[in-house]
Amino acid sequence: MQIFKFGGASVKDAKGVINLASVLKKTGYNNTVIVVSAMGKTTNALEVVIKNYFENKTELQSALQEVIKYHNEILLDLFEDETHSIYEKVNLLFIELKQFLKSNKSPDYNFVYDQIIGYGELVSTTIISAYLNSINIKNNWLDARDIIKTDTNYRSAHVNWETTQKLISANLKTNSLNITQGFIGSDPNNFTTSLGREGSDYSAAILAYGLNADSVTIWKDVPGVLNADPRYFDNAKLLNKISYREAIELAFYGASVIHPKTLQPLQRKEIPLLVKSFLNPDASGTRIGKNETLNPMMPCFIVKKNQVLISLSSLDFSYIVEENISEIFNLLHLYKMKVDLIQNSAISFSVCVDNIYNNLDELLLHLKAKFKVNCTENVSLYTIRHYTQNVIDKIEADKTVLLKQLTQETIQIVSK
Ligand code: ADP
Ligand code: ASP
Ligand code: MG
Repeated sequence: MQIFKFGGASVKDAKGVINLASVLKKTGYNNTVIVVSAMGKTTNALEVVIKNYFENKTELQSALQEVIKYHNEILLDLFEDETHSIYEKVNLLFIELKQFLKSNKSPDYNFVYDQIIGYGELVSTTIISAYLNSINIKNNWLDARDIIKTDTNYRSAHVNWETTQKLISANLKTNSLNITQGFIGSDPNNFTTSLGREGSDYSAAILAYGLNADSVTIWKDVPGVLNADPRYFDNAKLLNKISYREAIELAFYGASVIHPKTLQPLQRKEIPLLVKSFLNPDASGTRIGKNETLNPMMPCFIVKKNQVLISLSSLDFSYIVEENISEIFNLLHLYKMKVDLIQNSAISFSVCVDNIYNNLDELLLHLKAKFKVNCTENVSLYTIRHYTQNVIDKIEADKTVLLKQLTQETIQIVSK
């Protein structure tokens, strides 16, 4: 079987959905599962709905209305006949969502987040499935929550691999086209869970693992994995082949083209991952697999903006030793900081973090009780794999370098 993943950018409007169908016609779609994200920026829009639900009830209806309107416009472009049953189906999903907002009693932000956020994917796959059927690409719509089982770690749920494996084997029809949602699963009580932002790539890998698929293809708005994010670097070049190990490193350092959790399940079963352009499906794109070496070999750049550099030193000039370090890490873990870089010396300890969950103030309060704290927000972290002195000089040329760390293959530079 082959697994295809289509991200939000690929289905951001009716044209995107029509293009998805043309990709399927070109590639063939028997023995295929397609995993689809929410359309365009719907997940961000639903995050606004959730925030308003908790903090600003007066704006709640208009935020929700915006999401509904966006999908209705896509529906009108795809289905001329407004009596088509898809209108009612999508409407029912939004009614379900509104009913949840009315009846929910849970004050748990993360739980509520997951009950709401999944509607992006539920609506997108419902629309796309109906569209494909309407042009005679018959398909089987599956609720990912019936297949991917997780724990109750809402917003970043962990997969229960054993149950998931059984459900995948029981529910997926081989020899036909299946369509399901990325990003979501369900907990033991069947409440919706999500796998972390951008998690649809990971969903595709989970299904591939369970199905022993031949390959996973993620269809992107870029020609494949490039040696840098084209939004920040001119002249980014296509990488034809990458080893699993290299791809894991790139994703770990923040190359957002692949979700970092995606590669491990694929590597375990040696399932190749192809990254291809949905605008040019005939082009070869990037192949990530076993025994591949980085081809062409060249420096690869990753930039993470809006990071936070925290430097700690002891209040009394005593050494920062194991005991303090373990305390610091407990706090970083408690406040869910994603650590990008660590550097320590005898009396100081620096860490560059991604403040994804907005817990910086609480963390700093805790740290200040024990350490002298210096915090710089809005720093950028540049990572260069396979660096040369020439490219380091170029990156550093117009920046104030706050911290630098070098290993044999990787250099990381924190700059303002
Ligand atoms: P999806 O629609 O699947 O969610 P994303 O927007 O998450 O797609 O990923 C595609 C984007 O990733 C590209 O538009 C590009 O800006 C960005 N990107 C970051 N790093 C890279 C890289 N190394 N190669 C290609 N694209 C990259
Ligand atoms: N729709 C989700 C997000 O935007 C998951 C994904 O696109 O991968 O984060
Ligand atoms: Mg994405």
